[in-house]
Amino acid sequence: MCGIVGYIGGREAGHILMEGLKRLEYRGYDSAGVALINGAGLDIRRCKGKLYALECELAERPTTGTVGIGHTRWATHGRPSEQNAHPHRVGNVAVVHNGIIENYAVLKKELIAAGSTFASETDTEVIAHLIDHHMKAGRDFETALRETMARLKGTYAIVAVCA
Ligand code: GLU
Repeated sequence: MCGIVGYIGGREAGHILMEGLKRLEYRGYDSAGVALINGAGLDIRRCKGKLYALECELAERPTTGTVGIGHTRWATHGRPSEQNAHPHRVGNVAVVHNGIIENYAVLKKELIAAGSTFASETDTEVIAHLIDHHMKAGRDFETALRETMARLKGTYAIVAVCA
């Protein structure tokens, strides 16, 4: 039961995402993170623990961008850690996810056999890999997202961005 939030518009996304995450903080205290798109591509900040830790990280290492996604985690797959914190990134794609991907183990095996390397213990990371995989096969982001969702089993919500 995580909190997920996304913003696209003309304003700086960082504050808007943090405001959204504060309203959703009760949904998960294991970690928090944001991914913003700016001139450098995807810029990700993630911290284990409560949202306050992410606020401190952003104060120390600020970032900018008018497109972004954010997450507060209640872990279901993989212990609470920075490594397992969302957003999960593969290439130019970052994903935040609420819920459980029931067939993640089968998908993960398939993706590893196809050459993917996983950086976390979460079920979520298969989503980012699948989108990346479809994009490498020539799909645009939206098509890759649709094709990815057609493979996922479970009850879930996601927000994904592509830099
Ligand atoms: N299954 C994801 C994870 O463990 C999301 C958890 C949730 O929705 O609470 O990171």
